[in-house]
This record gives sequence, structure tokens and C-alpha cells, in this order.
Amino acid sequence: MKRVYNFGAGPSALPLEVLQEAQKELLDFKGAGLSIMEASHRSKLYEAEHNGAIENIRKLYEVPNDYDILLLQGGASLQFAMVPLNLSLGNKVQYVNTGSWSTKAIKEANIQNLNVEIVASSKESGFDRIPQNINFSDDADYAYITSNNTIYGTQYKEFPLTKAPLVVDASSDLFSYPIDWSRVDLLFAGAQKNAGPSGVTIVIIKKDLLNRVGEGVPTILRYKTHADNNSLFNTPPTFGIYLLGLVMKWIDKQGGIKEIQKRNEQKAKLLYDAIDSSDGFYVGHAKKDSRSLMNVSFNIKDKDANLEALLIKEAEANDMIGLKGHRSIGGLRASIYNAMSIDGVQALVDLMQDFANRHK
Ligand SMILES: *Cc1c(COP(=O)(O)O)cnc(C)c1O
Repeated sequence: MKRVYNFGAGPSALPLEVLQEAQKELLDFKGAGLSIMEASHRSKLYEAEHNGAIENIRKLYEVPNDYDILLLQGGASLQFAMVPLNLSLGNKVQYVNTGSWSTKAIKEANIQNLNVEIVASSKESGFDRIPQNINFSDDADYAYITSNNTIYGTQYKEFPLTKAPLVVDASSDLFSYPIDWSRVDLLFAGAQKNAGPSGVTIVIIKKDLLNRVGEGVPTILRYKTHADNNSLFNTPPTFGIYLLGLVMKWIDKQGGIKEIQKRNEQKAKLLYDAIDSSDGFYVGHAKKDSRSLMNVSFNIKDKDANLEALLIKEAEANDMIGLKGHRSIGGLRASIYNAMSIDGVQALVDLMQDFANRHK
């Protein structure tokens, strides 16, 4: 069996053990004689998986009891619309713009004709940092940030303190470090980067926000609908939720989210050290104090597109894929989510050092 090191930004690598478990159970789930994919979402068989996934998210992520955990569809992109639909009270909503995903979220709030304010932005400097001194107003309907910027490779080291409810798009750093829930009121993420396959969106929302929703909002777009129905209002993405549950069990087996965080720090350090010790051959996109532990975006000196393409090609020849940077900044990007092993990162670092020596 061939398995590559997948550095793709998403959908991205899943733990091999998770895929093997799913393979083992695929045709005959726990002796029931059918696949979990074929089971009714109202069956005891499926409900155990559904509730188990939610319980494990609560346990591993230490989600307090005054928050609901919802498993939805539509991706993080639907949350760009659902957040303002559900949380806006008609006063003003405030955003920090740290890249393409924040920009898209801001666009959706504008479509709803809200009073949208950008309180801080790193656009001027090519989204190479998390802005300093972010000041949200106490009376904003909500305050919005993107915790990890998947394309530019920047990440908050600490969430801003707010009186207004803080909304966090954690699509690309979900479950990668413990959350200080005293600072967060709604956190959402598509599962496909750090938690499972595409098709499941995780929303963790403080219960006191559920009743804000206005009368004109369609039933399926209300968080309250899904909270009241334990995310079984309509047919959920059952197979994806089952896989999400397996990923949660895998995280537990690794020693929990603190252990995962430690490994993520080790992996990122390997790569950033390789960049910093290359005598300027490799140039990281993010300012050092804003560097992401999940997505490492970098160029080769003078943004040499030929050398960058050659390195990507050599990586592929060595079974390392998904390293091409996003078209908006070019270069390379190594996505090193929870499921990427230290061995995988070490293999990439070895190639990068060898490549630099040959082309300096
Ligand atoms: C990938 C990504 C999204 C978009 O996710 P979809 O599930 O494709 O809608 C949104 N925000 C961030 C930070 C992302 O990385």
C-alpha cells in the first residue's frame, strides 16, 4: 500500500488508524450487517456514533456546559452567512480582516446590509501578520476573527478580550490547542482540515446566543433549530460525523489536545528553523510573531518561480504532495495539521535543506 505525506491545505491528511478503522467497519458495522452509511439517522446504531462524537468533542476540547455543540452542513462558508443572520441585532458588527477568509466573511455581512466595521486589518502588508492592539467596541453585536489564516500562514497567539460576543473561524486550527472558552462565544470550523472529511461543520455556540435570531430567518439557518434537535433536525452527514468521532477517539488516544499541541509546536519549529537557518534561501511569508503552527507559507529567495516549481516537483517525486502555495501568494505552503506526523515534516525539512545546498 502506498501512502504519501499529504501537505495539502484541505481536504487534508487523516490519521491512518482512523482510515483503517473505517475500512474494517465499512461493510459490517459492529455486527449489524450494514454500513453505518446505510443506517437510518434515527437508528440506535447511528445515534450512538452521533452522540459519542459530540460527547468526545465536549470532553477533549473542554467545552463548558453552557455551550451547545452543533454538527451542520454547508461548510465554514455557510457560517459566514449564518453568523450575521443569527447574531446581528441591527446595531453594528465588527471584524478583523486577516486574509481571504475574513474578507469573504465580511462580504457576507455586507450582503445582509448590516453596519459592518473593520476594526483592524493586515491587508496593507500583504496579510503577513495578525494586527496588534485590536479594539472591538463593547456594544458591537459581535466581534469576529479568523484564528488561523490558512493561505497566508498567520495565527493568533491569544484571542482578543471582548465584551461583545467573540466569533472565531477556527476552520484550519480546530482541535490543535486548548481553547480559553471564557473568551469565545461562537467557534466554527469545517471538519476537512483538522477533524475529518468535508461535509461536516462544527459549531460551538454559547446557549445564550441561540434566542437572538430574528423572525425572518429560515428554519434551517437558525442555530436554535439545530440546538433544539441535537443536530438531527434533518438528515445529518452521517458518515462524516462517524469519521469525526473516530478522529476524536484518535486524539484521545494520542493523549488529548495538549499533547497534540505539543507535537504541533515541534513540527512547526522544525520547518521554521529550516527556513530561518537557510541564509535567506527560504523566506517565510508571515512575520515571526504571527507564524501559524498549521500552515507554513514560504517562498524561495527573489520569489524564484522556477526553483519553487522544481522543489514542488522533487517533493512529489519523494511522495510529498500538496505543497504548492495558494495562487494569491505563490511559493510553497506546508499544511501540517494534527494528522501530519513528525516524520513527514522531517522528510520535507531534509529535502528543503538538500535542495538549498544544491541551488544556493
Ligand atoms: C477552508 C476555510 C474556510 C472555508 O471552508 P469551507 O468548508 O470550504 O466552506 C473558511 N475559513 C477558513 C479559515 C478556512 O481555512
